[in-house]
Amino acid sequence: MKKILFVTSEAHPFIKTGGLADVSGSLPKALAELSQDIKIIIPRYQDIKTFGDIHYRCSLRVDNRDVNILETQMPDSRVTVWLIDYPEFYHQPGNPYVDAQGNPWPNNAERFSLLCRIAVEVAMNRAHLNWKADVVHCNDWQSGLVPALLSLEYDRPASVFTIHNMAYQGLFPTSVLTSLNLPGQLWHPEGLEFHNMLSFIKGGLVYADRITTVSPTYALEIQTAAYGYGLEGLLIHRNEYLGGIINGIDLDQWNPETDAYIAHHYSRASLGDKQHNKAELQRRMALPVDNNIPVLGLIGRLVEQKGIDLIIACLPELLAMPVQFVLLGNGDKSFEQRLQNLTHVYPTKIAVSIGYDEGLAHLIEGGADMFLMPSRFEPCGLNQMYSQRYGTIPIVRKTGGLADTVVDSTPETIANHTATGIIFNDANASALMEAIKRALLLYNLGDVWADIQKNAMAADFSWQQSAKQYIELYQNIQR
Ligand code: ADP
Repeated sequence: MKKILFVTSEAHPFIKTGGLADVSGSLPKALAELSQDIKIIIPRYQDIKTFGDIHYRCSLRVDNRDVNILETQMPDSRVTVWLIDYPEFYHQPGNPYVDAQGNPWPNNAERFSLLCRIAVEVAMNRAHLNWKADVVHCNDWQSGLVPALLSLEYDRPASVFTIHNMAYQGLFPTSVLTSLNLPGQLWHPEGLEFHNMLSFIKGGLVYADRITTVSPTYALEIQTAAYGYGLEGLLIHRNEYLGGIINGIDLDQWNPETDAYIAHHYSRASLGDKQHNKAELQRRMALPVDNNIPVLGLIGRLVEQKGIDLIIACLPELLAMPVQFVLLGNGDKSFEQRLQNLTHVYPTKIAVSIGYDEGLAHLIEGGADMFLMPSRFEPCGLNQMYSQRYGTIPIVRKTGGLADTVVDSTPETIANHTATGIIFNDANASALMEAIKRALLLYNLGDVWADIQKNAMAADFSWQQSAKQYIELYQNIQR
């Protein structure tokens, strides 16, 4: 049994902006079920939701700041959650990283440096919690200073740094160095410095005992210039300590047999009932209710990473066909605007909901026939796995976790019942369009389509397997 401190800036169901929250919500639970002693540490944001009991545990003083630690439980689990209570930093409304206009909070360096400092104090058993970590598992740049600071400690826990997305690095001008008061020996080009900027992510990449990322393919991709953002050299250098472990999904939350958000429950054995969700989705999105028209869905951040521009480029041709397209997301204002404009041009074909809506996300998974993920890069991606579980066939670009979790429908994979989706290679609109046409052809071959749906629904995306790989990793760290 290991004592693991899991450091994260978001965790479902407390606060979520994306996939990191899903992982932080489910991996610790899976680890606890495998008898690990795991604690999550996370800032107590103003909008954090809490469930049941929440109580004061201790106070500590770090960098001249007096911080309280509160304790609560992850719902339906034995996972303890420690909340860092420091209102001056964390009591802004809304998103943990950006304001309502999408601009990063001006004191993000200080806010997440404090998360790191506190995590180190807790891990080293200097926070009066009477608990010392064996392993500190850090996630993304917000926790990047933890491995760096731990590297200076005597008798320290092992450190693991997981990259959920290399595109976000926590780069700050050197002017923040004074207020962060970081030890001078970390400040050099082989340390936290990156082209004369302070790089939080480098703290993880340089100093962690092990680096992981959320799919084997992404672990290879980030060692190339196309995906490495200038850090590929460092990752190649540390490649012996770098690996990919695919994310699982929360099978209780994403289960078409019990999902409270969908209109009708269904399973592999009652796939026909999926059409009731399609009708409900069409009604809710004010599209014509027609079971014969294939519905394509998309849920996600509307940013270039997700290939939203490729979809917009395809839409005129796509919407000339007998299909409907349902999109839920928010992000770049220009994408939001362009998509909304298209709903006026094709009101019976496309429905767009701008915003964040957990319930609608589930209904789209339950009601759509196909799900689009033409990502330029995708460290793991979750929706392609949710889609498969709901018999909603994913159409994905061959990158990162999408390549690792979807099996393309070819004559061979259809014949041997392993096909679960459609994969295309190039990040351009015509390759995406081709893939959609391929999916529509299969859709019209009813039996073949149903077979692909059943293969997809049978795929095993449980956390069990991945959690075991993390435990093995924790056990084998040598320093
Ligand atoms: P990323 O972390 O890059 O945003 P992932 O596919 O790994 O992408 O995870 C995104 C998660 O956030 C999924 O659970 C997805 O359903 C959810 N999500 C994204 N945008 C929305 C939205 N607008 N409404 C509801 N859920 C959303």
